[in-house]
Amino acid sequence: VRGYHPAVTTFRLDQSDNVRTKAERDTILADPRFGTVFTDHMATAVWTEGDGWRDHTVGPLRPFSVHPAAAVLHYAQEVFEGLKAYRHADGSVWLFRADANAERFQRSARRLALPELDTAAFLDGIEQLVRVDADWVPAPDGEKSLYLRPFMFATEPFIGVRPAREVTYCLIASPVGSYFPSGPTGVNLWVTDEYVRAAPGGTGEAKCGGNYAAGLAAQLAAQENDCDQVLFVDAVEREWLEESGTMNVFVVTRDGELVTPGLGTILAGVTRGSVLALAEDHGLTPVQRRIGVGDLRAGCADGSITEIFAAGTAAVITPIIGLRGKDFDLTVGTGKPGERTLALREHLLDIQFGRAADTRGWLR
Ligand code: PMP
Repeated sequence: VRGYHPAVTTFRLDQSDNVRTKAERDTILADPRFGTVFTDHMATAVWTEGDGWRDHTVGPLRPFSVHPAAAVLHYAQEVFEGLKAYRHADGSVWLFRADANAERFQRSARRLALPELDTAAFLDGIEQLVRVDADWVPAPDGEKSLYLRPFMFATEPFIGVRPAREVTYCLIASPVGSYFPSGPTGVNLWVTDEYVRAAPGGTGEAKCGGNYAAGLAAQLAAQENDCDQVLFVDAVEREWLEESGTMNVFVVTRDGELVTPGLGTILAGVTRGSVLALAEDHGLTPVQRRIGVGDLRAGCADGSITEIFAAGTAAVITPIIGLRGKDFDLTVGTGKPGERTLALREHLLDIQFGRAADTRGWLR
């Protein structure tokens, strides 16, 4: 690739001509529904105990052939990541804080007794895939971007419970638009007291598939209660806010605090860290402390909580306009997206899409 001189090249390129036409691509890119279409290529690598990682390849996207006894199919030994590549107005393509995803992927792998993929290989695979499939990165238009999904799973055929001795790494990419069709108009969350997502000592901080499988019933309950997503509370007291299904949660107070729950049983969101870092630019004091359902009810009633939003790579910053639970139905602020929420959202998107200076070195 012209002008591309990577410091480390781990992935070998197997470029096939099995690519869709420009016309097919343009149709898809006109309205990419989240997670439904994938680019022409994928990156893969295989790890075996003793030998480590090998066969790093970027090649045509194709189905896997896995043995029915593959450990992941039985015991869910799997971890994944999610990040995006953004096209700027000048046509260049950028990753946002990809090193943070590399590190979280390593932490998740350790928790699931999977091998770690080093940061250089993680980044090299992503950069090579994005270069090969660069035409799949949508032109800047709203939130359109290329969503990247690195994942790793236990492929050893063995029905016994121990860490697998053979593991596959894969990276696929999918052009996306807005995660919530309603976008920044705001969503309602269902506060579940029935299901918990994570307990102390569990896998809440790991990005593993099992966490999401376990959350699906809660998501269905949210839909049955006319809500867009679920909001989990802690496993012990069933009082303290944790996070939503795929987003971290933030509360803006009348006193100018931007409060989000501390880490421990929630995912350390890259967006969460970025929003905390941007808070002061918006005259807000970033605070990590627990927030009770009781605090929410009181704060929404007396106006001391002015805005609530959720933050994640896929959904960027999404205003929360209502919260419902078994015995309450709260309207947040005016019931419309809050000013601070929308300003933070624009700020973040401006950095990601190169419309604001990247003073923190978040883009590569
Ligand atoms: N919490 C959960 C449970 C998630 O799945 C995600 C999405 N990765 C987030 C929070 C937000 O994390 P990030 O900002 O890194 O996308």
